[in-house]
Amino acid sequence: MIPSVLPTYNRAPLSFVKGEGSWLIEADGRRFLDLGAGIAVNALGHAHPALVAALTDQAHRVWHVSNLYHIPEQEALADRLVEATFADTVFFTNSGTEACELAVKMARKYWYDKGQPEKTDIIAFEGSFHGRSSAGIAAAGSEKMVKGFGPILPGFKHLPWGDLAALEAAIDETTGAVLLEPVQGEGGIRPIADADLKAIRALCDEKGCLLVLDEVQCGMGRTGRLFAHEWAGITPDIMMVAKGIGGGFPLGAVLATEEAASGMTAGTHGSTYGGNPLGCAVGCAVMEQINTPAFLHGVNRKAGMLRQKLEGLVAAHPDVFEEVRGLGLMLGLKCKVPNGDVVAAGYDNLVITVPGGDNVIRLLPPLNLSEDEIAEALTRLEAAAETVAAKLGETA
Ligand SMILES: *Cc1c(COP(=O)(O)O)cnc(C)c1O
Repeated sequence: MIPSVLPTYNRAPLSFVKGEGSWLIEADGRRFLDLGAGIAVNALGHAHPALVAALTDQAHRVWHVSNLYHIPEQEALADRLVEATFADTVFFTNSGTEACELAVKMARKYWYDKGQPEKTDIIAFEGSFHGRSSAGIAAAGSEKMVKGFGPILPGFKHLPWGDLAALEAAIDETTGAVLLEPVQGEGGIRPIADADLKAIRALCDEKGCLLVLDEVQCGMGRTGRLFAHEWAGITPDIMMVAKGIGGGFPLGAVLATEEAASGMTAGTHGSTYGGNPLGCAVGCAVMEQINTPAFLHGVNRKAGMLRQKLEGLVAAHPDVFEEVRGLGLMLGLKCKVPNGDVVAAGYDNLVITVPGGDNVIRLLPPLNLSEDEIAEALTRLEAAAETVAAKLGETA
C-alpha cells in the first residue's frame, strides 16, 4: 500500500523533534551535530532568538494579506537586498524552483520586448540543479530528473561544467541567457574559478545575452561573501536566491537589474504567498544578522579552520576520502567509498552531513557555528571515517 506521504524521498530513519543552534535532537533524545543545516537553509542554526522573535512578532500582527496590497515587510526586505547587491529590484517567491521559473520568464520576456523574440535559448551546465518544476528540470537537463516527464520545456542547452570554449561556440543568435551556479551544490560542491566566471560575464556582454546566476545554495553568506559571485568581482543581470534567505522559513527571491527586469510589468507574474509578511519579516532578520562585515569575516575564519581540519581528515583516511573542495562553509568531501555509506556512518556517530553528486558528502553547517563545534565536528567525522574504514577492513 502506498504510504500516506507520497514516497518520492529516500529518507534516513531519523526524526528530529527539536533544534538548538547547530544541534538537532532526535525523538529518542540523541543529540546530532548538524553539518547539513537542512541543505544550507538553517543559515543561523535552529531556533535563533532573533529569528524566533521576528517570526512571532509578525505572527501576532498579520500573517497574510496578498499582493493586492503593499506589504511593508516585503518592501523593507527588498530595500535591504537592493542596497546590499547589484540588484535594482526584487520579486519574492517561496522556493528556489519558483525563483528559477521567474528567472527563465524574465530573461525571455526581456528579449521579446527588445524585439528579439528569437533569443529564447538558455545555456546551462551539466551537474547543475535549479529545482524540480518543469523549467527547473529542463534547465538542469539530467536524464535522472527529466526521464518520463516529457514533453520537457524546450529552449535549454547543456554544456560540460565550466567549459568556456564550448560556451563560446554554443552562444548564437538564439541565446538569451547563460545560467549557472557559481558553486554547484547538488552536483557535488563544484566551484567555478573566479577567472572563468569573469570570462563568462565578458562573453555574455560581448555576445549580447543575460547572465543568470543561481545562488540558491551558495548565496546568503555561505561562501564568506554575501553572494558567491562577489569573489569574482562581477555582477549578474538576474540572480536566484532561496534556502538561507529565510533561515528555515520558506522564502526565495529573484534579484535583477532594472534593465533585465524591464519586461516584467504589472500583470506579467505573480504569487499568492510570495513575499508574505511572515517570510519577509524573518528575511529581514536574517539579512540583519548575516550582512555585516564582522559576521562574514567570522564565516571566512571558521571556514579556514574547518577546511584545514578536513584536509587532515582526508590525509588520515586516504582509503575513505579523496579530497576536500568548496568555498567558505560550502564544503565537500569527495569519497572513495560510496558517499551514502559515509553519511550513514555519520549518523551512527551523531553527525549530520548531506550526500551530493560526484560521490561527495556536503558540509553546509550553520554559518554561526562555534569554534568548539568545529572541533566537535572533526571528532565525529573522524569517528565516522573509522566506522567506514572498519567496515572496509571486514570485507577486505
Ligand atoms: C535547492 C536548490 C534549488 C531549488 O530550490 P527549492 O527551494 O528546493 O525549490 C535551486 N537551485 C539550487 C542551486 C538549489 O540548491
